[in-house]
Amino acid sequence: MAKNSGTSCSFCGRSKSEVGILIAGVSGHICENCIEQAHQIIDEQIKFDVPKSSSKDFKLMKPLQIKEHLDEYIIGQDEAKKILSVAVYNHYKRLSVSGKGDDIEIDKSNVILVGRTGTGKTLLAKTIAKTLNVPFCIADATVLTEAGYVGEDVESILSRLLQAADFNVEAAERGIVFIDEIDKIARKSDNPSITRDVSGEGVQQAMLKLLEGTEVNVPPQGGRKHPEQKMIKVNTTNILFIAGGAFDGIEKIIGRRVNRNMIGFASKDEEKPDSENLLQYIIPSDVKEFGLIPELIGRMPVLSYLHPLDEKALRRILTEPKNALIKQYVHLFQLDGVDLKFDADVFDFIVNMALEYKLGARGLRSICEAILNDAMFDLPSDKNVKTFRVDLAYAQSKFAGSKLAKLKIA
Ligand code: ADP
Repeated sequence: MAKNSGTSCSFCGRSKSEVGILIAGVSGHICENCIEQAHQIIDEQIKFDVPKSSSKDFKLMKPLQIKEHLDEYIIGQDEAKKILSVAVYNHYKRLSVSGKGDDIEIDKSNVILVGRTGTGKTLLAKTIAKTLNVPFCIADATVLTEAGYVGEDVESILSRLLQAADFNVEAAERGIVFIDEIDKIARKSDNPSITRDVSGEGVQQAMLKLLEGTEVNVPPQGGRKHPEQKMIKVNTTNILFIAGGAFDGIEKIIGRRVNRNMIGFASKDEEKPDSENLLQYIIPSDVKEFGLIPELIGRMPVLSYLHPLDEKALRRILTEPKNALIKQYVHLFQLDGVDLKFDADVFDFIVNMALEYKLGARGLRSICEAILNDAMFDLPSDKNVKTFRVDLAYAQSKFAGSKLAKLKIA
């Protein structure tokens, strides 16, 4: 660093006496103000520039490979896995031929997944994104509003995707967005209100362009658009949207339709609909009757469903997936040099509690935490323990003493 008198900044021209510090280079000087400004410019560029390097890393896999990958992480849900694997494969195949002069343009295969909460909808979408190595984000449909209302603009969905892609626009443009709780923006058909339906149909309308493919100005930090905020242009043509929802009560709609269709047919037993699992008969018109507008359904042409998780499925979820909960705990203990073991009936107990407390797959984790928390607190400080065995009595007593157990009494 040099503080030369009689020299000036080669960038702004101010003389030494007008600035505090002048730094000498090989053939000029720069003042502190210009350094500050240059620093800001670099910061902005880093945020907005497209880093080219990581953008080509996504892997195009065949549907069978995609499904095999999903099988490693997700138990059951075979129909949804197959339909998603094909949809995703076609989507990215479409992407790989686009711009190569093909006469036939392949439509987008955005997906709607219907199934109770905690059955693996988000996990499916997330795992697909991980498998293909594309950016992924989750957006909650309930916080979205149409432009001009309080809440998040629909475009803010893409802010999260950009953030997930480290502001690599090219990567974000072939990412996957999971829109959660799409059923909550259904049109409330039996309750037509005079005022505009802020949270329902308006949001559906606002989403149409996004789903179809358009250039969107995205506020990089999310939230509402501010005129002074610098926007990033994102093209959504190749972004895959997967929407999920529980669609509470849709079974009734399906049931009515299926029964209507049965009337007049001399049905054999095997042709009778399985009234216990009506979701398997779901078709787009059911979703329309539920309250999604036809234009939205048209832009999400792939429809599939997820089964509710029964005892057997929960038991498998606990131990089988690649990163199953129990495997995670065993690993956590291993890191402290402790060999964690479970008696088999402990798993049954955990599953039964999840069912009894109606906690579903998400509850498995809270129950495991309740059982293992004391051990996880004590063991790291106890160098003598090399093995820790959880038997049924231990599991029962720890669970009984937990906050979770008291929830049911309340
Ligand atoms: P949803 O999106 O349907 O509400 P999630 O995908 O968020 O449900 O599932 C919640 C959690 O439950 C997941 O993180 C996962 O641990 C577990 N889970 C749910 N369904 C499955 C499944 N079929 N296979 C493995 N784990 C599952």
